[in-house]
Amino acid sequence: MNVIGRTDPHAVHQDIYDAHPDWIMVDANGKKVRHWSDKDYWVTCALGPYNFDYMTRVTEEIVTLYKVDGIFSNRWAGSGMCYCEHCRENFRNFSHMELPATKDPQDPTRRQYTIWHEQRLFELWSLWDSRIKAINPNASYIANAGGGALSQLDMAKIGKIAPTLFADRQARRGLMPPWMNGKNGKEYRATLGRKAIAGIVSVGLEEEWRWKDSVQSGDEIKLWMVDGIAQGLRPWFTKFNAKPIDKRWLPVVEDVFKWHYANEKYLRNLDPLANVGLVYSQQTATFYGGPDAHAKVEDPALGFYQALVEARIPFEMVHDRLLDADHLKQFQTLVLPNIAALSARQCEQLTQYVETGGSIVATFETSLYDEWGKRRDNFGLTNLFGASFAGRLEGPMNNSYLNLEKDPDTGRYHPLLSGFEDATRIINGVHRAIVMPVNDGHTSPSPLTVVPTYPDLPMEAVYERTKETRDPGVFLRDVGKGRVVYFPWDLDRTFWEVLDVDHSKLMRNSILWAARVPQPLTIQGRGVLDVSVWSQQNSMTIHMVNLTNPMMMKGPVREIIPVGPQKVRVRVPQNKRVTEVHLLVAKADLSHRMLDGFVEVEVPSVALHEVVALDFQA
Ligand SMILES: [Zn+2]
Repeated sequence: MNVIGRTDPHAVHQDIYDAHPDWIMVDANGKKVRHWSDKDYWVTCALGPYNFDYMTRVTEEIVTLYKVDGIFSNRWAGSGMCYCEHCRENFRNFSHMELPATKDPQDPTRRQYTIWHEQRLFELWSLWDSRIKAINPNASYIANAGGGALSQLDMAKIGKIAPTLFADRQARRGLMPPWMNGKNGKEYRATLGRKAIAGIVSVGLEEEWRWKDSVQSGDEIKLWMVDGIAQGLRPWFTKFNAKPIDKRWLPVVEDVFKWHYANEKYLRNLDPLANVGLVYSQQTATFYGGPDAHAKVEDPALGFYQALVEARIPFEMVHDRLLDADHLKQFQTLVLPNIAALSARQCEQLTQYVETGGSIVATFETSLYDEWGKRRDNFGLTNLFGASFAGRLEGPMNNSYLNLEKDPDTGRYHPLLSGFEDATRIINGVHRAIVMPVNDGHTSPSPLTVVPTYPDLPMEAVYERTKETRDPGVFLRDVGKGRVVYFPWDLDRTFWEVLDVDHSKLMRNSILWAARVPQPLTIQGRGVLDVSVWSQQNSMTIHMVNLTNPMMMKGPVREIIPVGPQKVRVRVPQNKRVTEVHLLVAKADLSHRMLDGFVEVEVPSVALHEVVALDFQA
């Protein structure tokens, strides 16, 4: 058993304020900041002597006296921008500038601040880790940090320096599907690889009003936990206030941990076997998204994530600073959901990836900006897209559509439009880039053409105005040994907003067409499942988390609605022979068929979670 000490340096009492007023955070108006939740406390500055000197000594004292294996600190990175005397002086020494008054990421002062702020926090991390290791070389500092595109500190760097990481997203709140917990796991693994990571799960409601002694519905607690487990997070439950006032959570947590222990050998994952990667980009969020990063950067990713879950396509997250051949060798297809800010080097890596047989699916402004969020004259990936930027964006667009076009040679729809056989028109997105085709002979005729926006009121005015040559709604290309699908509009973002089933199908089909080879896992049956497929030492597993629920997009769930049967077809790694197949939740054995390197089984029913485990011959 390892024991980890927890510190939380974000707030102090009045006596500390009186002794060291310069340790307290200062707001933009020059006022020291009281704690938002408890007015007896003051909020500290994270980047000055409180953390660098005082908390360093506190950390050393804990490690010396209590021999802990690590220190985990919560809320260590500040509570917003601080204007204290130390921040002003240190930033001036770094940049010869005053602290920025704007959040515009294109403002030179703001850019310098972003760089300085990140550098300062990594300095603090490194200071605490080195002081801990000087006392106990086997112990580490573990920051409560990291996440996806919207997180502050570069995950590629965290992946190198962190021995482990804990995803502190304790439960759902607001509108949030249960797969959000698994997404944490995928984001962490993208840069931490096989290092152990955990998902912190609370047993209570996590809404704005902070009922810290509450207990959620048991099924909701389990659903959140198992979705993390399915995507590689080790379970960790947390309970504020060690007094169990309402004990309903105890048997729920006990069940999950007992199951986890009983099936441990099938949960010691080596590698995920998915071959689709969904790219996330912190630099795009910071320098292109800025204050609008959620809408412009995260929402497109969430849209594609939801579409991939609906399509039951197993996939991983990929960090945009890890696009080298070694990190990408697992992937047949990469998805770039409006990954707008990419350096010339990153564009080169993606081009190389496609030339040598990888495929990409990209949307909207992908590669139109450099790594600092500065707009280019043309897409960095124009040669892959077969499209060049015509200098203009359009949107928000009301009432715009895409016509479905048959291939002029065959008179049939392209495989991108599979499932649309009875359709002639679907809705367009809300924003688009105006682009010109590059006529180099590698682009197929576009199966989608844009119907420009036309009036939506009054009723008698609602008709299409122009029938001129239509812009392509998608570019489909064979480039080198790979394939490229480029949608010059916000398909993924609009999907997250509207959830139109046509857009979901379009995203699914784009991946299946781009990949060229069958997916490693297909599961046929009713319902919404979050799936994953893993290898272990002498087995492989398929996780199915049943999200089919009227409370899928906003918890807590009331009951679990079982779905079944599910026909599972999974590719077995070469040179492996499957001896037995087990269901780890239903505790049953299944008969299986082997066909062309794939194993087929039928799972009678999935309640909240099922794991199909395939034993290999030793
Ligand atoms: Zn400060």
